[in-house]
Amino acid sequence: MALTLFNTRTRSVEPFRTREPNHARIYVCGLTPSAEGHIGHARSFLFFDVLRRYLEHPRNGYRVTYVQNVTDIDDRSIATAAREGTTYDRIVARYYSAFKASMQRLDVREPDEEPYATHYVPQIVQMIAELIERGYAYASEDGVYYRVARFPRYGALSGKNTDELLIGARIAENEHKDDPLDFALWKFARPDEPSWPSPWGAGRPGWHIECSAMSRALLGVPFDLHGGGYDLIFPHHENEIAQSEALMDAPPMAVMWAHGGLLNFEGRKMSKSLGNFEPLANLLERHDPLAIRLLFLSTGYRKPMNFTEDALAGASTALAKLLRGYEGLRAGEPAAHEPAPAANPIDGYRARFFDALDNDMNTAGALGVLFDVLAETAKDERAAVRRDAAALLFEALGLLGLGALFERPAAVHEQGGLDPAIVERLSARLGDAVHLNGARPEAAIAAIIEARNAARRAKDFALGDRLRDALAAEGVVLRDAKDGTTWTRAGA
Ligand SMILES: [Zn+2]
Repeated sequence: MALTLFNTRTRSVEPFRTREPNHARIYVCGLTPSAEGHIGHARSFLFFDVLRRYLEHPRNGYRVTYVQNVTDIDDRSIATAAREGTTYDRIVARYYSAFKASMQRLDVREPDEEPYATHYVPQIVQMIAELIERGYAYASEDGVYYRVARFPRYGALSGKNTDELLIGARIAENEHKDDPLDFALWKFARPDEPSWPSPWGAGRPGWHIECSAMSRALLGVPFDLHGGGYDLIFPHHENEIAQSEALMDAPPMAVMWAHGGLLNFEGRKMSKSLGNFEPLANLLERHDPLAIRLLFLSTGYRKPMNFTEDALAGASTALAKLLRGYEGLRAGEPAAHEPAPAANPIDGYRARFFDALDNDMNTAGALGVLFDVLAETAKDERAAVRRDAAALLFEALGLLGLGALFERPAAVHEQGGLDPAIVERLSARLGDAVHLNGARPEAAIAAIIEARNAARRAKDFALGDRLRDALAAEGVVLRDAKDGTTWTRAGA
């Protein structure tokens, strides 16, 4: 079996193929960093991160070019900048750096390209000029608009038709367009707004044209996969298709379209007005990022998902079970010359794990196989079986982006008897050198060990030593081994 994915465009599960052999070109709509990101944003980017890891895994062997744009100019960043007496790019820098830090904590890899819309204005203007030339766009009093009626396939991706869309549609008073369905490609600047020159008047690009122009510039059309959250299907992706394909002799712009399901927070749509909006950065401070990652992967990526604190606690338990199981499989000396069993049951589990991923990235099913492996091997004493089971867990969790689990101290959950006040003392000792996860001593120690690993990777040995010494002062001794760092109580 080879990888298959649900293609929103055809509404069916199809084999993943690329136009260029062994090279997958992917464009995913990125963030509009004009406000705090939330956990729903993280879900979609996390899915595409796992997809990318799987495409690059030797089993698929693709080189992946992954482009994720930054919509760095929009009405909200302009409004916020005006309110705060600063510039739009400062607002964007603030929220985008917070978002990137959160992605790093979730172990979501960086895109190969992160084009900012304002860096692609010449390409955007060029594309609008081509659309006007072919009769797909027109300039009006307040900007340049796309003429939807000129594009007969409009609505094909989302399954909407223009007659239905027109019912109840009307033109807002401040918009000057010919038809209610027409959408802005270029908005003329009002006084004091940031603007870029264009043949039609100074202004800024509309959101949809940015993605059409940047995907064409960086990947070329057609490319292999276009992704985003479910809420982007209409109108954003529909409009991207109308723009890009109007200029192509041989559409489509993207062969496959993949969309991640939406997320509810404690049973409701997340919104500031409902009072259940928590910025992603805050949530990641309160919770273990790996548990969040595991929770997302335990739900089908296309399904709507309800994010609750209970579900997250369940994911933490599952994470601990995986780590304990892995450590258990590796414990004990392997028998030196034990012959490999004729039929190793792990081969079958390995096949099932990858079959699940091949089946439209069924990460929940794939994780289920790993728990089956733990159950199967709990009583199997054969060294070869245990070794292969540990190897499968190591490979599989790494592929799912959960490999950081193996850097955690072994059996951290079993160490009892620590003074709860240790967290406060460590916090006072370390200041803001490290953020301590929650109030449990074990979690705080784990956070410090992770921060120390990160410091050592970044060759900041002074910070690494400072973190180790702070733990030592509390009687917690670290031991570094090839496969990670463990800790014990001094004298224990
Ligand atoms: Zn987009």
